Amino acid sequence: MSDQVNQDFEVIVIGAGPGGYVAAIRCAQLGMKTACVEKWVDEKGAVKLGGTCLNVGCIPSKALLDSSHKYKEARDDFDVHGISASSVSMDVSKMLARKNKIVNQLTGGIGGLFKANSVDSIVGTAKVLANKQVEVTGNDGIKTIYQADKIIIAAGSVPIDIPPTPLLDDVIVDSTGALEFEAVPKKLGVIGAGVIGLELGSVWARLGAEVVVLEALDDFLPAVDETIAKETKKVFRKQGLDIRLGTRVTGSTVTGKGKKRKVSVEYTDAEGTKTEEFDNLIVCVGRRPLSEQLLAPDCGVNLDERGFVFVNDQCQTDARDIYAVGDIVRGPMLAHKGMEEAVMVAERIAGKKTQINYENIPSVIYTHPEIAWVGKTEQELKASGQKYNVGVFPFAASGRALASNDTTGMVKMIADAETDRILGCHVIGPSAADLVQQVVIAIEFGSSAEDLALTVFSHPTLSEAVHEAALAVAGHAIHIPNKPPRKARS
Ligand code: FAD
Ligand code: AMP
Repeated sequence: MSDQVNQDFEVIVIGAGPGGYVAAIRCAQLGMKTACVEKWVDEKGAVKLGGTCLNVGCIPSKALLDSSHKYKEARDDFDVHGISASSVSMDVSKMLARKNKIVNQLTGGIGGLFKANSVDSIVGTAKVLANKQVEVTGNDGIKTIYQADKIIIAAGSVPIDIPPTPLLDDVIVDSTGALEFEAVPKKLGVIGAGVIGLELGSVWARLGAEVVVLEALDDFLPAVDETIAKETKKVFRKQGLDIRLGTRVTGSTVTGKGKKRKVSVEYTDAEGTKTEEFDNLIVCVGRRPLSEQLLAPDCGVNLDERGFVFVNDQCQTDARDIYAVGDIVRGPMLAHKGMEEAVMVAERIAGKKTQINYENIPSVIYTHPEIAWVGKTEQELKASGQKYNVGVFPFAASGRALASNDTTGMVKMIADAETDRILGCHVIGPSAADLVQQVVIAIEFGSSAEDLALTVFSHPTLSEAVHEAALAVAGHAIHIPNKPPRKARS
């Protein structure tokens, strides 16, 4: 069926996740007539804006991480403060309802922002055609063609599924299903010790599940600085996560009926082939770009060998007036990376020369303690031969961390041995994400470790650990005995 209504827009954005909705709002702010096409609808057919991040990603996972952390704190950690909370219990359905309410509030908020900025919200599945046209197929199957001057593709990503563990109802689930368990699984398997697997595994472990994380690689968090990854593994194992490295899942069988269903997972490790039974299994083996059926063969946009839309450093595709941002292009699959690309592209379309510093994008694992990092790891610097100095400050020596009974972890700062420019900062500890953000700002301003060392930090704060790590780079942290200075050179 084809009912063509042509309408012109200066910019058409495909996808209303963090990449798409930010691009649409910024284009509209810059005076461009903008539409944003989104295919995600709720059970009533109303559009759901916000993409993976708001609906099934960053926000709902953080809501569950915060609820489960509070529960665990009340159950295990209040006693030390003199608070007795002997009959702490968790109402899982109430926890999920709170999470859903936050999601609805935020996704609805994007609709409000679209209205306030005069962004046209179009519901349907978009396809990029030749000559900068976009075909949108509505839920009713009717196709409409829109003409654009510029197109921004922000169609995002979806979880990867693997043949050994096909998803099944609420028994074998992906990250989306893991946000919806109606009861705490007794024994939960998680395939993949990446960021998402560790966050979701932590949620259900805190609520009482026995959690086994099966990871094919021998190394734990290979992209993370080795000191921090080692400490993280130790801390998570102490928290009860059974992390098994060098363990590749090769098959699964679901047995039983109804609520009694179980999944038997087959895997291989150094000792051979084994099986283990779980009540539920989360498959968290990464995400892939959602680029199939998105591009007409003659639209001029190309994909790379892994299915990502191929773009240059300015997020421009091989078709001059078509851009792509967020998870559908190379780089870390992070909401803040997509949002900044969106702003860059909108401003470039408006003639500005905005550019992203891809070397300075922070990453976070929102467990407790948090793990966060930016810039180069020590192992990367060693491999490249660049000379560097390291300063480490443990939270055990932070007055504020001690006062709040949150002393696990450390700040590790790395600076260039000759220029003292900060090259990286790696943190495991309380509020690690916010602490690393301070260093992201410092790096953006070209700061040296000494610049941070000479900055006044409020006392007593966790931020002082950043200050002390910067002091430690030069070997004179105040609150740890660091003579002779810990100097590491390649
Ligand atoms: P998406 O958010 O995936 O949005 C793409 C949108 O495009 C979707 O709404 C989709 O329906 C729509 N779409 C796709 N194809 C079409 C089409 N043809 N026509 C119309 N619409 C289309 N990142 C962080 O930075 N911090 C976190 O804490 C974090 N936590 C996460 C936790 C989980 C469990 C998951 C799964 C992800 C998490 N992420 C996190 C990653 C983050 O969600 C993504 O990086 C981010 O959502 C990517 O934004 P995007 O706009 O590129 O794509
Ligand atoms: P990430 O891409 O960071 O989300 O992490 C996904 C993790 O899943 C990676 O560390 C992979 O090594 C791991 N993985 C992928 N396939 C398997 C498998 N069959 N068994 C165990 N781990 C896997």
